[in-house]
Amino acid sequence: MSDCIFCKIAAGEIPCNKVYEDDDVLAFHDIRPLAPVHFLIIPKLHVASLAECGPEHEALLGRIMGLVPRLAAEQGLAAGFKTGINTGHGGGQEVFHLHVHVFGHKG
Ligand code: 5GP
Ligand code: ZN
Repeated sequence: MSDCIFCKIAAGEIPCNKVYEDDDVLAFHDIRPLAPVHFLIIPKLHVASLAECGPEHEALLGRIMGLVPRLAAEQGLAAGFKTGINTGHGGGQEVFHLHVHVFGHKG
């Protein structure tokens, strides 16, 4: 999607403060953090929202959710963390490229 900001981040066309990357997934710190540690995990594949996901996305969703505890631990969120997926205008979604928020504080 040429006009999608997270596709541009995934393609390296817009810089980000990277947390993790592999062939399918990218994680980076949120530009307007709502917690001392606040990062986003996205698929590199453009999927507009969780509402657009079907059975064909289950493996990708599993990969993303499976990364949450590992990346949270690497970011020092030993006390725990909060996750969120805003979906659709009614769900407060602003960037229409699927992403999981991870919020917490170190220690
Ligand atoms: P949403 O409300 O769609 O779940 O949240 C989108 C999030 O993306 C917001 O927390 C916002 O701060 C973040 N965001 C929007 N544009 C950028 C950007 O260019 N870089 C980064 N790192 N985060 C962004
Ligand atoms: Zn996109």
